[in-house]
Amino acid sequence: MSVQCPLCQSTHISSKNYGRKIGGTVGTTAGTVGGVTTALSSAQVGATIGMFAGPVGSIFGALAGAAIGGLVGGVAGCTAGTALGEMVDENILDNFQCLTCGHCFNHTAQ
Ligand SMILES: [Zn+2]
Repeated sequence: MSVQCPLCQSTHISSKNYGRKIGGTVGTTAGTVGGVTTALSSAQVGATIGMFAGPVGSIFGALAGAAIGGLVGGVAGCTAGTALGEMVDENILDNFQCLTCGHCFNHTAQ
């Protein structure tokens, strides 16, 4: 990848990726919250399935169900949030900063 500063033509460019970072964090949080809701029903399903293995199976089933629900939600949210943030970085924010002159720019708008 060779990004050049539109002002001074320097190739010492850093990308900020604010959107990607924020998107990933917000996505993970939202996904985990959503996942916890899913986890509660997953826990119920797990407990029901685990019941066939007795009371201990029921507890482990509920724990496994809740853990999987929260984890899947968090990972899915992070992926979606990062993808969304990447879009914001590339299309809305000035994602690149020239390390030579400090100019911020968006590579699609060059
Ligand atoms: Zn520059």
